[in-house]
Amino acid sequence: MTDDPQYRRILLKISGEGLMTDTEALDREKLRRLANEIKVVRALGVELCLVVGGGNFFRGAQGALKGFDRVTGDYIGMLATVMNALALAETLEEIGVPTRIFTALAIEGVGEVFNRPRALAALSKGAVVIFAAGTGSPFFTTDTCAALRASEMKCDAFFKSTQVDGIYDKDPRKYADAKRYEKVSYEEALAQKLGVMDLTAMSLAESNHLPVVVFKQGSGALKEIVCGRGTFTVMEDMS
Ligand code: UDP
Repeated sequence: MTDDPQYRRILLKISGEGLMTDTEALDREKLRRLANEIKVVRALGVELCLVVGGGNFFRGAQGALKGFDRVTGDYIGMLATVMNALALAETLEEIGVPTRIFTALAIEGVGEVFNRPRALAALSKGAVVIFAAGTGSPFFTTDTCAALRASEMKCDAFFKSTQVDGIYDKDPRKYADAKRYEKVSYEEALAQKLGVMDLTAMSLAESNHLPVVVFKQGSGALKEIVCGRGTFTVMEDMS
């Protein structure tokens, strides 16, 4: 089977939760597997932007339930994404993949402040570009950051890795008869309340005609999916 990537440039959103184990916030083995998957896709000539979540450390909304001020919690969450970005960059560099970290908050010594022309230049020189600290503003999620950066960077698709292998009509972890969509429109995903991602991220993806490829994180199938094979759902314009 020939490997024929369906996309020239993608933004891959990695959930923080997918990097953790029961005992560790950052699992070295999961990071290595992920880095290898990214390396293989890059070797196909696909340009990669990455956004990492922070849910393995902290989420502002959950912090608020425990008495943290929501805004403080969101900044803690954004800083958590920076820690994940550092771990991921180091793991990629170890296997020979050049990286550049751009942060939405100024954190000297860790990365450079996000600048679109510089990020585009880094991509064209072959670096995997990692966007950290979310949007830099509280009340948003890294899914929204991913939809935003994917649109700004003119990515052909937003690859959203999750705990399940696509978008289902109901939660497949609870219902044995749940059906996975091959394709679904933004309108239907919203109307059916399929819970793909938050409304801000949905609306950015829809208004920028950005296809969202939902697949299972850690399944080892990233290359297959980039080549249009395997198990996933594409949410896109279907009109
Ligand atoms: N966050 C934020 N603004 C952003 C992105 C993230 O305030 O633009 C905060 C928010 O508290 C969020 C946390 O950072 O819960 C971690 O991000 P997220 O929950 O999206 O991570 P994931 O669930 O993907 O691991």
